[in-house]
Amino acid sequence: MHILVTNDDGIHAPGLWALAEAMLPLGQVTVVAPDREQSGVGTAMSLGRHLHAHRIRGPLDDVPAWAVEGSPGDAVLLASQALAGSPLDAVVSGINLGANVGNDTVISGTVGAALQGFFQGHFAVAVSLAAVRDPDWAPAAWLAARLVEARARDALPRDLFLNVNLPPGGFEAVRGIHVLPAAETSAVDAVEEHVDRKGQAGYMIVRQGLPESQPGTDVWGLRQGYAVLTPLRRALAGDARWQALEALAQDLWAGMAWGEAAAARETGR
Ligand code: MN
Repeated sequence: MHILVTNDDGIHAPGLWALAEAMLPLGQVTVVAPDREQSGVGTAMSLGRHLHAHRIRGPLDDVPAWAVEGSPGDAVLLASQALAGSPLDAVVSGINLGANVGNDTVISGTVGAALQGFFQGHFAVAVSLAAVRDPDWAPAAWLAARLVEARARDALPRDLFLNVNLPPGGFEAVRGIHVLPAAETSAVDAVEEHVDRKGQAGYMIVRQGLPESQPGTDVWGLRQGYAVLTPLRRALAGDARWQALEALAQDLWAGMAWGEAAAARETGR
């Protein structure tokens, strides 16, 4: 297995290196990550911009590492197509300091990096820890390694894109592991009035605590103390909302075809 480890908290984030260390027994590990924190940039791509990639020395000997002056998605694309040296089998993103659940999954740079890995055809896992301070990376690193290991022995399909969140605390804090869909609530949507260093009044968008959510969602599961696995792209295909959208699309298509036929009759063609 050739495993790319990336994140959105930046190349020096401890969670990144805890994740890289957990991957070492599973195969070849390459680390490519943004050179600074990029939380909340989602799947942003720096189109048409010169991108520097600096080879750096990380805390793990023999693990090649690059810092990219760009987004998490840029880092993964550069890794996959230019830096990794040999084809990747898995992209693992994290371990993010802070949960990425519910609607915030879409704006998460941690998830955005994994999504780019998925788009490049790699098994992709985003891992986040719902801790604010004093993170214990061990349970998240362990779980991520078990998922990649499961992929290595074909127990999971290659075209899987998983978002993984763990409650704060050590192994003893995890009360179960459950597969749950993303909630339709947001934690990153609070706007506060803010004064900058020059005394200018403005605003700041801040993260709040996990919102209340319906039972059976990722947010709910995390609040219960579960480690939560949320399959992102693959799960959608069997989702009732997908079928509703498909039904609507068929209705719209039928309307469009009827409208065209009526217009053709009126003009006598
Ligand atoms: Mn982050």
